[in-house]
Amino acid sequence: MDSATTRIWLRHAALLIDREKDRLTRLDLAIGDGDHGVNMHRGFLAVTAELDQRHTERDMTAGKLLVGAGNTLVSSIGGASGPLFGSSFRALGKTLDGPGPEDEGHRFAEALTAASDSIHRLGAAQPGDKTMYDVYRPASEAFARATGSGGGLALAARAAADAAEEGVRATEPMQARRGRASYLGLRSVGHQDPGAASLALIFRALVNALEAK
Ligand code: ADP
Ligand code: MG
Ligand code: MG
Repeated sequence: MDSATTRIWLRHAALLIDREKDRLTRLDLAIGDGDHGVNMHRGFLAVTAELDQRHTERDMTAGKLLVGAGNTLVSSIGGASGPLFGSSFRALGKTLDGPGPEDEGHRFAEALTAASDSIHRLGAAQPGDKTMYDVYRPASEAFARATGSGGGLALAARAAADAAEEGVRATEPMQARRGRASYLGLRSVGHQDPGAASLALIFRALVNALEAK
């Protein structure tokens, strides 16, 4: 993935989050403290402001841009989700810039696996705990499956975004076992997880960016 596409991806993510922030907030009002839409909006506004400032830096790699975005997200989103989104973008960027397969699809698949693992390590959520990990894991696995069977970056991104959206829907009947929503116990059942919903937007933005190329 090149740096131009990465910039478009981050801008598309900011756009989708801006458009959907009220829905994200409503989800967090149901099972959390109602700040998720505002948190994500603030975070991605900071990311786009940073991109605006650095638009002349032509030597930026995709990896450096993503590590930078991760750092910005940690310091601007706040809450439980800031460090989680931040570390996932940092892991993504570091892996993309590190040693790995030549093929960009396979390299990106490895990076997504590292990002998903970083959320797992930091948040200690298991599959089925009703968190963003219930989106990151299936989406990164779908991406890896698609590249493994010969699909290119765009095809794999579509498979990941579809799996992400399916993952969000799957959080609805789950009982939350991590984060603020877990305080509600059984009352968390019947609502989609807000962090999972945000993450699905980020995967959809990747599809948009690759199609805009
Ligand atoms: P806060 O709960 O601090 O207000 P946000 O509302 O921004 O933070 O984010 C809540 C989201 O963070 C949840 O919907 C969930 O997806 C995610 N989350 C919270 N705790 C964890 C965790 N331990 N592991 C993975 N994701 C988590
Ligand atoms: Mg919240
Ligand atoms: Mg909060």
